[in-house]
Amino acid sequence: MQFRAVKGTNDILPDEVRRWQRVEEMFRRSMTLGGFSEIRTPILEHKNLFVRSTGETSEIVEKQMFELERSGEVLVLRPEGTPGSARAYLTHSVQAQEPVSRWYYIGPMFRAEQPQRGRYRQFHQAGCELYGDASPVCDAELIDLLHGFLVGLGIKDLTVAVNSIGGLESRAAYREALLGHLSPKAESLSDHAKKRLADNPLRILDSKDPRDRAAVADAPSILDALTQEDREHWQAVLRGLDTLQTPYQVSPGLVRGLDYYTRTVFEFQSSMGSLGSQNTLIAGGRYDNMLKSLGGPQIPAIGCGVGLERILLALGEEIVPAPSPCFIAPLGERASLVALGLARELREHGVVTVLDGRGNSMKSMLRRADGLGARLCVVIGDSEVEQNQVQIKDLAAHSQDQVPRTEAVARIVSAFKTAEALGSNH
Ligand code: ATP
Ligand code: MG
Repeated sequence: MQFRAVKGTNDILPDEVRRWQRVEEMFRRSMTLGGFSEIRTPILEHKNLFVRSTGETSEIVEKQMFELERSGEVLVLRPEGTPGSARAYLTHSVQAQEPVSRWYYIGPMFRAEQPQRGRYRQFHQAGCELYGDASPVCDAELIDLLHGFLVGLGIKDLTVAVNSIGGLESRAAYREALLGHLSPKAESLSDHAKKRLADNPLRILDSKDPRDRAAVADAPSILDALTQEDREHWQAVLRGLDTLQTPYQVSPGLVRGLDYYTRTVFEFQSSMGSLGSQNTLIAGGRYDNMLKSLGGPQIPAIGCGVGLERILLALGEEIVPAPSPCFIAPLGERASLVALGLARELREHGVVTVLDGRGNSMKSMLRRADGLGARLCVVIGDSEVEQNQVQIKDLAAHSQDQVPRTEAVARIVSAFKTAEALGSNH
């Protein structure tokens, strides 16, 4: 019997990890430049944290959480990053230490979904949270920062959908308007939407069921139900985006599936690569009431979740090569002992060094050096050991040189420095 990875989970092997690292580094860079600092919170959290924040009627809490029970505690594998981050913020009373906090994270999330391309049970999100600043400037700044991140990665065909779902008062008014529109059509809705009609009709706007989509197609716009204050915030966000010339599309049907959002919500989509209908790369919004609903003070916040698998699908299978190493091929035990010391010294000088310990023929070692894209291969045989020398082969130039062992490190380091300056990886 052979074990397989659990349904909906993926192994990420080295060639692919390098592609991930490129995206993660770009994210870290964008965030660091925006004044955000990384946080790391546990994967295990109490189930109630998500019931209270993400919302009982959200798709995630209704049916997607991986639950486990231990010593009478009901825990879940976190399905998203925002509630855990908010919990950590409150646990450590961060608001007492600084008025505004900008945090980001990168890590695995878990949801019991039907696996398909771009939709997995273990997937990875990068995300950020900005606490303590309610101003619309933040909304425009964050949307623009994320836009710059995606464009910097080379993502094309981007749509930035933005909307405002207002605060509690606006939503209560809109709820009535939406019920007025949907109630006469109740029979045509999906079973799930029929239930939502009573407890959370806004969720119907987010349904993917074609029957629900048809029913909401000509629904009233939430933007018409915004209170004066919510409308002012919304218009200021758009003025910020206009000033920055960040492209966006106002999408009154965009409500997002999580209960905690208030005012601004947004999504970044791309039709690039093999995304199919799983084409939302980033989703986020403001959640000015969430910390309070978790038992904390009234602290405004805005954040987003970036779907890393989807960004990688959009980018396609571009090759990110491993750094070209210096390869050391010793023949025999005495040579191997010399090779050990040389490898350590080269690494101390910052040269990526691969030592072949297999004791194979020179031919097979050279083949491996080639396969690794090595720039140099250091051959050490018996005669080299006796003369206290090494042979340095330049695999690209097909040249070789006998060098005293004492000069070898300087020679190799300078060869790598020159290649670096020329900007070649091989
Ligand atoms: P969808 O409507 O596609 O199910 P969602 O509303 O559940 O998305 P969020 O919870 O807001 O998505 O998550 C933010 C981002 O994380 C998504 O836009 C997507 O890029 C990514 N994402 C969400 N669920 C998955 C998953 N199961 N597999 C891979 N990526 C995911
Ligand atoms: Mg989902």
